[in-house]
Amino acid sequence: PNNRLAGQTCIVTGASSGIGEAVATAIGLDGANVVVNYNSHPEIAEEIAHKISINNLCGDAIAIQCDVSKEDQVQAMFKQTINHFGTVDICIPNAGLQKDATLHEMSLADWQLVIDVNLTGQFLCAREAIREFLRRGIRPEISKSIGKIIHMSSVHQIIPWAGHANYAASKGAIVMLMESICQEYAPQKVRCNSIAPGAIKTPINKPAWETPEALTELNKLIPYKRIGVPEDIGSAAAWLASDESEYINGTTIFVDGGMTCYPGFTTNG
Ligand code: NAD
Repeated sequence: PNNRLAGQTCIVTGASSGIGEAVATAIGLDGANVVVNYNSHPEIAEEIAHKISINNLCGDAIAIQCDVSKEDQVQAMFKQTINHFGTVDICIPNAGLQKDATLHEMSLADWQLVIDVNLTGQFLCAREAIREFLRRGIRPEISKSIGKIIHMSSVHQIIPWAGHANYAASKGAIVMLMESICQEYAPQKVRCNSIAPGAIKTPINKPAWETPEALTELNKLIPYKRIGVPEDIGSAAAWLASDESEYINGTTIFVDGGMTCYPGFTTNG
């Protein structure tokens, strides 16, 4: 814990499992107050918030329910956060899901759900965050930026993914959302970046790591030869939210053990 985020408040969406949980925990350990957003299973989110808030190295934490694809619910979550903690300094739209199908078998519902959660959900959260940043104004004693947005993207913002076109399209779109927000609001000292995880051991991709055979196959895609863990993303997010990374804006940080370096080519001559 570095206490780099003391006095700040962070909303992490989809924080009741996997990467979101690790990000919420790392941000809390750096001194920020944390909103552990969840869509279902309040007891899990409450437990995570409780663990963060009883750790005396951490800021305070509360769990707030919200389906990030619903405008009224996202607005209510921000209102509740501001009522409780006073403002929002860091927004990490992380909630995401997959609804896999080959394209010719993909229903409009499968397409729409993934776009609604992974893309529209991130737009709605970023929009409310920027509204709050502009309302509050800069507090130089707290942070050099007026506010920070960290979109959770994926290596599939650049690696095409057969059988997952809806997911890859949602993550590809995050690049332009994030970069456009940066271009639009950097003059007001908003920092907007993305983290693009590679293969991280969480419930979303269990079939890819649950057997030794699957893990061997997966490692062929990872030059560093180990699957990522949620804490790999947590530490990147806490640093990216802090003033240590102040001059980083409009960038995607790949946290992927080299997955985006085309490991297949190591054996192709
Ligand atoms: P996960 O399934 O453990 O976590 C996703 C979370 O989002 C869950 O807690 C889920 O309840 C929540 N969620 C889903 N729909 C929601 C909604 N409508 N409103 C609020 N919350 C909702 O998976 P994860 O791996 O931790 O994924 C987190 C993010 O990281 C996702 O955006 C995912 O695309 C991205 N990602 C993961 C990997 C990986 O290898 N695990 C790789 C690249 C990107």
